Amino acid sequence: MVGLAADWLTSTANTNMFTYEVAPVFVLLEYVTLKKMREIIGWPEGRGDGIFSPGGAISNMYAMLLARFKMFPEVKEKGMSSVPRLAAFTSEHSHFSIKKGAAALGIGTDSVICIKVDERGRMIPSDLERRIVEAKQKDLVPFFVSATAGTTVYGAFDPLIAIADICAKYSVWMHVDGAWGGSLLMSRKHRWKLNGVERANSVTWNPHKMMSVPLQCSALLVREEGLMQNCNQMHACYLFQQDKQYDLSYDTGDKALQCGRHVDIFKLWLMWRAKGTIGFEAHIDKCLELGEYLYNKIKDREGYEMVFNGKPQHTNVCFWYLPPGLRHLEDKEEKQKRLHKVAPVIKARMMQYGTTMVSYQPQGDKVNFFRMVISNPAATLEDIDFLIEEIERLGQDL
Ligand SMILES: *Cc1c(COP(=O)(O)O)cnc(C)c1O
Repeated sequence: MVGLAADWLTSTANTNMFTYEVAPVFVLLEYVTLKKMREIIGWPEGRGDGIFSPGGAISNMYAMLLARFKMFPEVKEKGMSSVPRLAAFTSEHSHFSIKKGAAALGIGTDSVICIKVDERGRMIPSDLERRIVEAKQKDLVPFFVSATAGTTVYGAFDPLIAIADICAKYSVWMHVDGAWGGSLLMSRKHRWKLNGVERANSVTWNPHKMMSVPLQCSALLVREEGLMQNCNQMHACYLFQQDKQYDLSYDTGDKALQCGRHVDIFKLWLMWRAKGTIGFEAHIDKCLELGEYLYNKIKDREGYEMVFNGKPQHTNVCFWYLPPGLRHLEDKEEKQKRLHKVAPVIKARMMQYGTTMVSYQPQGDKVNFFRMVISNPAATLEDIDFLIEEIERLGQDL
């Protein structure tokens, strides 16, 4: 409700974030909110920089852009021909936006090296180090590591401390893609999963996911001050006149890749005022409890198999449902082939009945499995029970 009201007010004001003079209040709210988010990350006195961007994919691309500029500032004027061949590193389970960013920035998807994950989907630091060394031997320049805090499918948190040690050893920019899991920083119970995040050079954090801020609301937080400005500014003299009567540091628009920029901050700011950090914490803890309830309910239930063992780190619960006709099939290959088709059929039936929906996907060599993700704290235990009943009702004849 509060987010909705803030969205309405934002549209009514219909202003633009590029200069202070046209959006003074929103620019200041962005300033204080980014500072607060940096404090929560653990950067001293909330120092640093940042921006609200049109989503986590764009925030990740900003991070890659900054990392490249930090190492090779001449790239801004001279382009990629002035830069040696680069290498970026991220896990096999990371979000596709890392590769998309590399493509858009002219780095190329072949330069994104995918690091192995363990059975729970967390990046294996020793493999990261091995691949960095290997890249250097091939005369590539490692410039960017993107660790994921809350992977999209498994909800896994990469081991940030070990990754930070490696980034420090090889002087590589460390980015944390916390688009999905960054919000756990608001929870005293769960924030340990991001231990080491304060050593990152940049962090993506999407309040429009776990924190239920209406779309869109995604922040990129940057540890170094001034870098974004240097990287992106063009000094357009019709917008950023140097002889204005106010403090020009409030004209934050030239840090962005965009010219006009939507006001995304007000929804988050107002919700934060209304709920408090305590309120967001309760929201997040509740969602994780619901995820745990689902996990406990199905982990030993007849006909269910978990995709990975142990309690999920986030609210992603990944599982297969095996209809009775499949449970005792001897032929493993046949069983996998049929199992692959179960989730799509059950989901299609859910949509036909209009009762519920749950996503599914394959991952690596694993056939289609359900991925239940909870981000709505208004969901109840009964809703979870209903989901299971529906899966069984719609799937038992398959
Ligand atoms: C959702 C997600 C993104 C992309 O965020 P958008 O706001 O949809 O652009 C990036 N990384 C991870 C880990 C995500 O889960």
